[in-house]
Amino acid sequence: MRTSPLTLLAFALLLVNCRDDTVIRQPTENETYPIVITAGAFRYVLHDDVTREQAAHIGDSLLSNYERIMRHLRVGTMPQVTISLWAPGHSNDFYAEMESRIGQVYRGATGYTPTNSEMCLLWNPSTPKSAVHEYAHLVSIALKPDIGNNPRWLWEAIAQYESRTYERPADWTPDQRAFPGFAALNQYNSVLPYRWGYTICAFIIDRWGDDAYISTINANGNIPSALGITEEEFGTLTEEYVKSMAGS
Ligand SMILES: [Zn+2]
Repeated sequence: MRTSPLTLLAFALLLVNCRDDTVIRQPTENETYPIVITAGAFRYVLHDDVTREQAAHIGDSLLSNYERIMRHLRVGTMPQVTISLWAPGHSNDFYAEMESRIGQVYRGATGYTPTNSEMCLLWNPSTPKSAVHEYAHLVSIALKPDIGNNPRWLWEAIAQYESRTYERPADWTPDQRAFPGFAALNQYNSVLPYRWGYTICAFIIDRWGDDAYISTINANGNIPSALGITEEEFGTLTEEYVKSMAGS
């Protein structure tokens, strides 16, 4: 029986992924915190009480998504990314680090990217998925270095879309399906950039294609220059898209 090159490639990828996985799960003798694990494209720093099993869950999640995201955002190479992890019982340490790294504390936030090759995460059951969201932020920086919160709606939209994080518009209330406008979507401490993020990118890609999605990022969300319509028209069309998704 002939083995196709594709099968061999899949097998090789599986081996690489398994090896990274084993490295994360395998404790060394008498290890003390912080535990530092280097595994392929990622480096993990486990602070007090974070388990290797928790880090491995994050590793599994990143390994099954990172190449797809790089391909979709047309980024050929990424720096090795360091994932620093804090246990829920040490949230004070997580927020103290946040203050020293970015000069601000966002209470309730459980992940952020202090540099273009680092993410800091406070463990909770959805952290493996959040790590993919944070990784998408880093890939978007590799594509467009000044995209961080510039504008905020697009920054979060890319991360929500690439990490496949969304609530179905069918589950939104009728009021929630009204386009809130870009000023509202750029607010901090608001669910709006997260709720609308996935759908905004899905709409751009469905209607104009991947090239236009990349152009929108390269234009820092300048809708008229990237898509050739006004922001107001974009809002109206996005709202129609959401309503069609919701079947209303
Ligand atoms: Zn984000």
